[in-house]
Amino acid sequence: MRRRILCVPVLCLVLTGACSKPAAENPFDYPFIRPLHLKREANKPYSDYKAFYVLTEDFEPLVDTAAEMDSASDLLKFASALSSTYKVPWTHFVDVNTLAAVKTSSDLDLKQRSQNLVDALKQMVEAGDDCELHLHGPLNRALLDQLRSQEKQHLKGSEEAVERYRQRRSFFYQSFYREGYRELVASLTYGKRFLEDSLYGGAQQVLAFRPGGWDHGSTSADTFLYFQALEDSGLIANSGLSTGDFGGKNWRVGNDPGRNVATVAVGDKKVFEVSPTAGPGGYVNPVLPNDLAKLAASVKNEMAVIVSVYHLGALQPADRGSSKTGRPESEIQSERDALEEHFKTVAKLAEQKILYPITLRGLLAIISEQQ
Ligand SMILES: [Zn+2]
Repeated sequence: MRRRILCVPVLCLVLTGACSKPAAENPFDYPFIRPLHLKREANKPYSDYKAFYVLTEDFEPLVDTAAEMDSASDLLKFASALSSTYKVPWTHFVDVNTLAAVKTSSDLDLKQRSQNLVDALKQMVEAGDDCELHLHGPLNRALLDQLRSQEKQHLKGSEEAVERYRQRRSFFYQSFYREGYRELVASLTYGKRFLEDSLYGGAQQVLAFRPGGWDHGSTSADTFLYFQALEDSGLIANSGLSTGDFGGKNWRVGNDPGRNVATVAVGDKKVFEVSPTAGPGGYVNPVLPNDLAKLAASVKNEMAVIVSVYHLGALQPADRGSSKTGRPESEIQSERDALEEHFKTVAKLAEQKILYPITLRGLLAIISEQQ
């Protein structure tokens, strides 16, 4: 009996220990981030559908050699054919640094191949795809210097300090913690302008950013600065908040339908968050099994927004002349098949008026309209 009494305080201690474990850092709970619910408005092309479907891809292929650049161009041809066959557009988050050679390479052959990549993306834009900005760190230094010499952009910004880091040390860490706020804004501002000029012929603005490594800073204060930098750079949207600790079980990219779209207050301005839809392994990935119809039906009285994430670079064979290890051809072929299967599924769900495929740009226009 006595022993049992002794055990109670021990048990209490154990339980208290378990309960006092800090909760996962959740940006969706930050006071400046408020959920946004999209209405299903009448008499719109999407009125009868259950969910918007935004197929995104982070364009960051290997481009160090001529063969890699050529295989990256091939990926775009494949992706483009899928879009035109199944009528599902891509939203490419283009890592500008993968296009730097078009401006900076002294090797005319590489420069031309890089130009081919730019042209392939440009053609996809003309066919209805969307290109937005992506970076894993600061803009390539040579590219930044060259863009700076061509056009003097007025940069806004101040400096801030550092602490413990829950995220993968990627975009925010590499650019802000290493280089400072002004350099963060410089990378975003010039990266944005480079894509506008090279892919849109200056006719359209790049609107959104996706942080490389899903790194938008470790804390609420970091994330606020991050959004301020987007705003200072003229961007109106972000796609990619992550919750918890990178590498930990509580790590999660984006959120569930009904909770993955938000407004972020930056002073008297606002930035929209259109986060990926959380799923197994982090987010909904087109080549992994997902019940899209179930996801689309998981919220009532509003238009769900399903954002999936792919990396076309996953289909890139290794350059035999390089030391990097690539995937075997058979593996790449089955992934290509899985991606095509996904397009078929989305096309079928679109026919059944469940998914309404749209680019992020198209969705942002609807979100702005509803404000
Ligand atoms: Zn990336």
